[in-house]
Amino acid sequence: MLGGMKISSWMVREVGQPMARGEREEVPGAAEVLVEVAGCGVCHTDLGFFQDGVPTRHALPLTLGHEISGRVVAAGDGAEDWVGRAVVVPAVLPCGCCRACREGHGSICPAQVFPGNDVHGGFGSHVRVPARGLCPVPEQGDPSLHSAGLDLAALSVVADAVSTPYQAILRSELRAGDLAVFVGVGGVGGFGVQIAAALGAHVVAIDVDEARLEALAEHGAHLRLIDSGLDFKALKKAVASFAAEHEIPTWRWRVFETSGTPAGQATAFGLVGKGGFLGVVGYTPRKVELRLSNLMALDATARGNWGCVPEHYPAIVEMVLAGKIQLTPFIERRPPASINETFAAVRAHDVVRRVILIPES
Ligand SMILES: [Zn+2]
Ligand SMILES: [Zn+2]
Repeated sequence: MLGGMKISSWMVREVGQPMARGEREEVPGAAEVLVEVAGCGVCHTDLGFFQDGVPTRHALPLTLGHEISGRVVAAGDGAEDWVGRAVVVPAVLPCGCCRACREGHGSICPAQVFPGNDVHGGFGSHVRVPARGLCPVPEQGDPSLHSAGLDLAALSVVADAVSTPYQAILRSELRAGDLAVFVGVGGVGGFGVQIAAALGAHVVAIDVDEARLEALAEHGAHLRLIDSGLDFKALKKAVASFAAEHEIPTWRWRVFETSGTPAGQATAFGLVGKGGFLGVVGYTPRKVELRLSNLMALDATARGNWGCVPEHYPAIVEMVLAGKIQLTPFIERRPPASINETFAAVRAHDVVRRVILIPES
């Protein structure tokens, strides 16, 4: 294409200072596309960049936002076939050709593109990203979207809140009949509950917030436990008796830390039993004190997880379209101009649902 496209977006200029709207020109380079944003979800990782001084890999000023769906409106050399297609932009886009990628470690590709971290993200009108790894999804108004009660903007949350727990669950080798425990059932953990239930697991949801637990009562959280932080033994006993009821031995317990809090991490670690598995999905910059040797004594496994490789996205979108993962009850739409108050509300836990910022058309 000739000339650039004028883009407006909300930029972080200084950590903790209100984001302001700015304009810039973008021209997609070779193998890149320009996506017109339909929606971009607000994630706790954005709050970390915005307020806690977690450094972004691209220097400020930067537009945040890595949970993007939209439509390709322009393309550089070699990516022309994408123009006009509706897509979800994975939060982590591996290069696909380096040694890490070739050996199956796309999540840690050193050349990966993470919108809103490596490049300008989705809190704006458009985003420029590599074409490789984009997930094609049904067009706006397509019967498959319509019958699932969804639109393109709703699919934005697939790019992180749904796909990240999906990859963590795959890595745990969860099977039907296993026990899946989620500690923290906000955005990521809540979708994890639905995915694990859809895969046939017996699911326990643990959270400090009763409303979040209740919201999942009809969406796969078979046992819901409030973590008051006071009585860990009682919590563990409740999980153990649920497991006993379903005759699930500890080596078939998969515990997922999805709260990203030190307290949640301590709880999740404490729930791992003999031969068990701990998936570390949430993020906190804070440290916790753990007896790491428990893993040795229990012959247990702990595994981290960074995003989700693009290869898994089509299967996830299929589960969403089939209604196995419900998005609508767990999302809330807001205008981009609310970005500063929305970030404050998410930080203060004043919103229960995942917020999607929808550009004005
Ligand atoms: Zn995120
Ligand atoms: Zn790579």
